[in-house]
Amino acid sequence: MEIYRKRRPCALLLAFLLLLSGGCSAGNGETYVDLESEQSQEAVSGLNLETGDFAYDDKAGSISLYTIGEGFLYSFGTPRRKIDLRSGKAQYFCTIPGCAHTMNDLGCLTWRRDMYAPEAAEEGVYYIQGSRVMLFHDGAADAVLENEYYTDYEEEVYAESKTGLSFLAIRGDLLYVFGPTWFCTYNRKTQEKTQPEQLFCDSLILSAVVWDDSICFATESMELYRYDRRNKVSEKLTDKAAGLSETDGSLYYIRWEGETPVLYGFSEAEGAQRLVENCSVSYCVKKGYLYYQSTDNSLYVSRLDGSDKKKIELTCQEKPLEGSVNIISSGFMDYVFVIGGTDDRPDECVFIFEAGSAEYLTADFGEE
Ligand SMILES: [Zn+2]
Repeated sequence: MEIYRKRRPCALLLAFLLLLSGGCSAGNGETYVDLESEQSQEAVSGLNLETGDFAYDDKAGSISLYTIGEGFLYSFGTPRRKIDLRSGKAQYFCTIPGCAHTMNDLGCLTWRRDMYAPEAAEEGVYYIQGSRVMLFHDGAADAVLENEYYTDYEEEVYAESKTGLSFLAIRGDLLYVFGPTWFCTYNRKTQEKTQPEQLFCDSLILSAVVWDDSICFATESMELYRYDRRNKVSEKLTDKAAGLSETDGSLYYIRWEGETPVLYGFSEAEGAQRLVENCSVSYCVKKGYLYYQSTDNSLYVSRLDGSDKKKIELTCQEKPLEGSVNIISSGFMDYVFVIGGTDDRPDECVFIFEAGSAEYLTADFGEE
């Protein structure tokens, strides 16, 4: 497990580089005919999740494969799919009539290599394609922003793809667009864009959360910073940190104390609070409960002070689930989603928990 923890930033960086090196051939205004009902897999179960009024996916901006939109959980692994949260049916993220979803189907979004960092919103799913932010909506994929900005850092480290983008985050009307060391915003209602702002670090940003008037971000060198947007300065909060998230006004992060990852909470009023030991970077805080993987990959739910701790046994394709999982949620529903599988199919099984519960519903992204 120690190997996994130490290697994770490198693995993310590698993924990032692979993504940046992907092609960028799609033009504006590509249209697709939505035939998703014909492409549906058999229903696994009727989930009938109460999703409430859609707000936005409130996970931290990061190089993530998953996002939760209105009624759907999207996986941007390949094959790219979505699960209907009411019917439990899995569908290909592809809208070409009669498409067999093979890698030879030109234009099949299911297998495209250069689509990443999905971020769901009311109006569709935003994602990154090289230097562009795309919006998939109403059966069409349109570029909403094309980046030409870069700093000395991007020019030196990503010479071939220096204008490439990293990930997205949404707060209110604003879509935050992150490059390796900078960000800008795009107003989803007015389409207004802001000038890029440098975040003043000399290392790749792996995750970020928008927090009041600041942006907190964790870098590849595991330093945690807070960027003051009014004064345009970055202040280092701590080191040996990763796995940022934000829930109900509090910031959370993992900090390594020797070999032990510890969950910290941070609020303006109380400063840094040491919360739960042996919490790997795979965690999610929802309604005062923490879902997390320990360093031996066991899954637990507990309160934020570590009390009421319950171990959760997961079974995927009739076998105990091993390995690391993704744990995500969204601001507009009280469910926590745990996504796990094999190295080849990391999204093979989806487990859905009502916040606080160790019981779960299951779904999957279907057979290939
Ligand atoms: Zn297809």
